[in-house]
Amino acid sequence: MRSVEDLVRLFRERGYKVTPQRRLIFELLAGDRSHPTAEEIYQRVRAVMPEVSRTTVYNTLRELITLGELRPVENLSEGGTRYDTNTTHHHHLFCVQCHALIDIDREFEGIELPPEEAAGFRLVNYQVTFYGYCPDCQRADGGRPSQGKE
Ligand SMILES: [Zn+2]
Ligand SMILES: [Zn+2]
Repeated sequence: MRSVEDLVRLFRERGYKVTPQRRLIFELLAGDRSHPTAEEIYQRVRAVMPEVSRTTVYNTLRELITLGELRPVENLSEGGTRYDTNTTHHHHLFCVQCHALIDIDREFEGIELPPEEAAGFRLVNYQVTFYGYCPDCQRADGGRPSQGKE
């Protein structure tokens, strides 16, 4: 995701209005690596601008996705779609307990799906997600410390 000023410029170029609410959403998202849900973003905006509507927040997120500045990460928690400000190719660590979602920026070699298993798909991308218990959750309740692996 670009800087706030670049996002403002990009939105104007595309004919979107840049309201104070939208600018605030840019400010809250730029540099955010927590992969927030739309509801979390809405709550953060509301804490500063109580009059903001959910529609404004959801529309702005949709526009950011259309412009390629934000990426939805599907199906990782019951809380709904998470939004990723890191739009480069990367992978994730996901805590199944607190739903922390952390970027992994290394590349994994040798992941491929032979054509006969691709169900006719022309593949364009893949993403790896490792599921487990983050350090905080392991401390909080004994988690499920990697049994059998240590
Ligand atoms: Zn956790
Ligand atoms: Zn990510």
